[in-house]
Amino acid sequence: MSTGRLTIDLGAVARNWRRLREIHGGAVAAVVKADAYGLGAARVAPALAAAGCRHFFVATPAEGDALREALGEGPTVAVLNGFAGTQREEHPGTIPVLNSLADLAAHEGEAILHLDTGMSRLGLPPAELDTLVAEPHRLDRVRLRYVMTHLTVAEEPDHPLNALQAERFEAACARLPPLPRSLANSSGIFLGPRFRSDLARPGAALYGLNPTPGQPNPMENVIRLALPILQIREVGPGETVGYGAAWRATAPSRIATVAGGYADGIPRAWEGGGKGLLHGKVARLAGRVSMDLMTFDVSAIPEARPGDLVEVIGTEGDADAMAAAAGTIGYEILTRLGRRFQRGYVGA
Ligand SMILES: *Cc1c(COP(=O)(O)O)cnc(C)c1O
Repeated sequence: MSTGRLTIDLGAVARNWRRLREIHGGAVAAVVKADAYGLGAARVAPALAAAGCRHFFVATPAEGDALREALGEGPTVAVLNGFAGTQREEHPGTIPVLNSLADLAAHEGEAILHLDTGMSRLGLPPAELDTLVAEPHRLDRVRLRYVMTHLTVAEEPDHPLNALQAERFEAACARLPPLPRSLANSSGIFLGPRFRSDLARPGAALYGLNPTPGQPNPMENVIRLALPILQIREVGPGETVGYGAAWRATAPSRIATVAGGYADGIPRAWEGGGKGLLHGKVARLAGRVSMDLMTFDVSAIPEARPGDLVEVIGTEGDADAMAAAAGTIGYEILTRLGRRFQRGYVGA
């Protein structure tokens, strides 16, 4: 076996969803944009639907069309970025999130209305909300399923913007006809009762990323990435390993070369902090992450052999840990996981 193995535990995704539903206390959707954060929406979404999830969010109309196909009839598929210039008829079976008065004017039928309460990205800005309140006939042609907003710093529970956004959302909703509300993302679910709504929209936490950074991860790990050792070589003191001669042996060392590199989504910035698990022991990355290969110091693991698997993401060191060592976030690690791995789904 010459390529890495990416194992995705659909049972763990479903358990994470149920867990979030318990904590939230209201209905919980699943955000499966970007191919379910890289894990495969065509497998993840049906597993969540089987667990009872009735509402799915994607980012683009094309993702929505593909998801509708994968899910069949039944659950709602909403498109966060809206239909942006394309027509509703082109996307049967999905509903747009309307992010502006222009979106509202361009669509009829079922939709979700997005109000901007502080992200300054998508959603009706306050001035457009004022217009809408003054001219309620603008809502005549749509059937709004939800009114939603999106939190900007939910992973920092003490940030004042959380309460401010909740307040702005409550005030805005009070000016509109009574409608079900959708507020929290993954981290928002953990912010307490004020952030409870009729429909939470978690993504990251479903896939095992920690929605409460700095605190123990309440979610179950979902993925395991294990890379095979292709070769092992003995390196004498003073010899260097890999590009840039960035790692130099200070003693006789054993270096294991594994299949997997930045072309597979392993961040190049993992150099310095990278480590993997092999025969229950920690092996440190030695030198640079290259395009297709990485080298690990296995001097202290004499039983290491070509063909053995080095676990670089798993329960011991998860995607958040890789992200922290590489100066990024777990979201980026997951969504960049490469297409060359042999993917296996368990727990369906
Ligand atoms: C991506 C996204 C979510 C999910 O966020 P997580 O932090 O992954 O839970 C929810 N709502 C909107 C509008 C999003 O863009």
